[in-house]
Amino acid sequence: MSNSSAPILPGATIGVFGSGQLGRMMALAARSMGYGIAVFSPEAGSPTGQIADREVVADYADDDAVRAFVRGVHVVTFEFENVPSSVAAIAQAEGVPVRPGGHVLHTAQQRGREKSFLRQAGIPVTPFAIVNSLNALRDAVAPIGLPAVLKTTAFGYDGKGQVPIHTHADLAAAWAALKTGEAILERWVDFSHELSVVAARGCDGSFVHYGVLENRHAHHILDVTVAPARIPPVIASQAVELARAVLVALDVVGVLCVEFFLTHDGTLLVNELAPRPHNSGHLTIDAAVTSQFEQQVRAVCALPLGSTDLVRPAAMANLLGDLWQPGEPNWAAALALPGVKLHLYGKRIPRPGRKMGHLTATAAAPDQAERLVLEARRRLAIATFGIETVPAR
Ligand code: AMP
Repeated sequence: MSNSSAPILPGATIGVFGSGQLGRMMALAARSMGYGIAVFSPEAGSPTGQIADREVVADYADDDAVRAFVRGVHVVTFEFENVPSSVAAIAQAEGVPVRPGGHVLHTAQQRGREKSFLRQAGIPVTPFAIVNSLNALRDAVAPIGLPAVLKTTAFGYDGKGQVPIHTHADLAAAWAALKTGEAILERWVDFSHELSVVAARGCDGSFVHYGVLENRHAHHILDVTVAPARIPPVIASQAVELARAVLVALDVVGVLCVEFFLTHDGTLLVNELAPRPHNSGHLTIDAAVTSQFEQQVRAVCALPLGSTDLVRPAAMANLLGDLWQPGEPNWAAALALPGVKLHLYGKRIPRPGRKMGHLTATAAAPDQAERLVLEARRRLAIATFGIETVPAR
């Protein structure tokens, strides 16, 4: 059970494991509230390190470096779930609060454990089977059905470590391609919508959520999010109640995102959990009273959670490294559209598929916000010499 704890007040230092854009945006929120930020990063000059007071560059498996780091902070949190659980154990042994707790990392960093936990908690999930060999995979096909997808159980994200299976003839090649001893066979869901609920739970068990977000993926990577989701209110309430049940069952302190498929017959199935701020919640920076990053700071510091009211409908479009391939994107052309905001993550090398930043648009209605953010992203490709001729609308 969560225990109500003394607040960790501004002036204290928050220690973050993981140093990408999620840590960066949390660090920005923390700094504006007067907190110090220390980041433990596998590489120097990271997106979070650029904003932090202190960046410690070491391996997560370096127990001595982890111990020295946690001794210098007042609370420990994570910006991604694939940090080894040993980190949480060391912090706990040093008497430093770890939020969310190590048990959350342990569950969420392995698909098999996560799906089994959800099923046991009575949460509807995509039909799945955990398989440990090619023979087990062959046996699992009948109960799960085809088409299906074979996923590695560990360290998978953004579609990495996933192989589609259309027929029995694909099984051997799919098993070999994953190069793993354990995988999850999952029914391919013919969904009408992908949705997420970004929610937060405080040290005192308080619960808040940002409503339901509507997501579109391209090549397994989140592409566009629209808020609020354009779905019937009854489905939205069900999604929120399922998210609440997940946060309570996991005994989470902090922000957690529940990703759903909505099937054509109106059934919600949980695809996966992210026990941290999530890409689909980035639009809360510009569109909500309290961003998901400030919310994470409040939750891990045992402060009251902030209002999650959406001030305006909004849409977010991710900016992948691909956009840089023809040359520097035309920022001025995109920002000439009122209501459009730019967020860049300080990554120097724009590799194709790499999340470099995002655009958010706010508008009077979700459709309008979506059109606006897509138009802004389209304008990034306008040749830069044409800036002055782009009319502001
Ligand atoms: P994941 O890394 O499991 O979240 O998968 C990334 C994306 O791949 C999802 O957001 C979906 O667009 C797609 N996907 C993954 N699993 C399934 C599935 N069982 N059925 C349909 N689409 C899926």
